Amino acid sequence: MINCKSCKFIHVHPIPSNEELYALYNNDYYQKTKPDYIQGNEKYIQYLNYTFDEKLDILEKHVSSKSRKILDIGSGPGFFLRRARQRKWQVLGIEPSPIAYNHSKKHNIPTIQKFFHQVNIKQIGKFDVIHIFDVLEHVNDPISMLKKSYSLLKRGGMIVVEVPNDFNPLQKVVQKVLGKKEYWITLSSDSKNSGNLDHINYFDFSTISDVLTRTGFKIILKESTFPLELFLLMGHDYIKNPKIGKKKHLERIQFEKNFENRNAHKVKRTLYQKFAEIGIGRTAIIYAKK
Ligand SMILES: [Zn+2]
Repeated sequence: MINCKSCKFIHVHPIPSNEELYALYNNDYYQKTKPDYIQGNEKYIQYLNYTFDEKLDILEKHVSSKSRKILDIGSGPGFFLRRARQRKWQVLGIEPSPIAYNHSKKHNIPTIQKFFHQVNIKQIGKFDVIHIFDVLEHVNDPISMLKKSYSLLKRGGMIVVEVPNDFNPLQKVVQKVLGKKEYWITLSSDSKNSGNLDHINYFDFSTISDVLTRTGFKIILKESTFPLELFLLMGHDYIKNPKIGKKKHLERIQFEKNFENRNAHKVKRTLYQKFAEIGIGRTAIIYAKK
């Protein structure tokens, strides 16, 4: 792990090759690293849709085009695009993993089964919005991914990226006070051959914003998600304990449910945007314009 002066964010070293990543995402990822991801998330689809609606609300405010074309890079099983399509967006996903791709197909989500760098940009046209959720931390060249995204956006188009907010101030408190190692570092479970292959890059609000700005984007809005570290600091150690983890996940959903009503929801969004300002929250969500 290095805090790389040339990339200006933390990443593993050495950086895995394309071939190593092909092997992981073509064969292993949804099978071994995240075997319960698809079915597990189908169970929480209502909550997922709530989080997707928050993004789509912002995007619909900023995108004037009636065509509403959206590209989801690393679209996984297609959860986000299913919601976007329900809201009348014209959707396209790019997803290399066969299991995730097949799940998208089952739901009739148009998807290209390739890695993003293999996609010929002339064949897919331009988009009003590009969504990159839980992907930039997995790729071996996030800057290239963002540059190519930039060229795929219409002028004034928007990108929304979401990455884990790592090495954040609350994690550091947990680390120091509770004596935890850097528990947010996630390496592949198959540590023999691909020890460094799950999260390659570690961003926080400041480094992910910087990467976007360097790529040419103008940042419009930063938002956070629930700071899960609060549970740890309250004495609920969910690390390596899926039973507690599930309970805390449900509590966090319950917390956010209380803000469903329109006026309360404004309070919730303001709160999470203020979290973003001080660099806390489990993930960093950045909206930026071309
Ligand atoms: Zn680097």
